[in-house]
Amino acid sequence: MKNNRRQFIKTAALGTIGLGLLSSENLFSGIEATGGDPFSLPILPYTYDALEPMIDTLTMTIHHSKHHQAYINNLNKHIAANVNLQGKSLYELCVNAKEYGPVVRNNAGGHYNHSLFWELMSPKPTTIKNESLNQAINSSFGSFEKMKELFTEAAMKRFGSGWAWLMVDSNNKLIINSTANQDNPLMNGIDITGKPILAIDVWEHAYYLHYQNKRADYVNAWWSLVNWQKVEQLFLAH
Ligand code: MN
Repeated sequence: MKNNRRQFIKTAALGTIGLGLLSSENLFSGIEATGGDPFSLPILPYTYDALEPMIDTLTMTIHHSKHHQAYINNLNKHIAANVNLQGKSLYELCVNAKEYGPVVRNNAGGHYNHSLFWELMSPKPTTIKNESLNQAINSSFGSFEKMKELFTEAAMKRFGSGWAWLMVDSNNKLIINSTANQDNPLMNGIDITGKPILAIDVWEHAYYLHYQNKRADYVNAWWSLVNWQKVEQLFLAH
């Protein structure tokens, strides 16, 4: 517990240097617009042990401080060596990721996806309060339960490493799909594009220590962690 807190404070301090005002309130508009100067690890809005027992402390610690940090380090190193990438926002790097090549695609994607993922979970149970999000879910999928079923199916069917997404298109319609590796729906030229409002990491590093091969148990447990107020905020801001 003490170690977790120390790590959290250290991480928080590092995050503050790079992204300034980053907080749960401005993540989406903030982080995607931020240039790599250089990019830095965002502050978690909770401690490493806060999502127990659904996500264990060791998994959270390694996932945030090692995996996410590695994407950022690789991205910063690559940007430092490529003048044409300097000064680009994370959003621009993601949108044009295919054009910028695999290092940007994997690591700008990795930085964006994980930054979003942390904010989309909460140790405190939440529910949807916004009627327009409820309406969009009902008109797109028929019911909340059906949306949950289709999203879970997308997370389960993603072969190998990747992410499942709930995203909104320009007509206010919600779409569910999954992407491989660190691709995301912002990237031009991938199968599905839209603005992500909910995401789950289904790489084995996200669950293997606690759940081993049982991805379904992880996905089912993860639903109780969804921060619906963040989902609403992203939906309303699209
Ligand atoms: Mn991950």
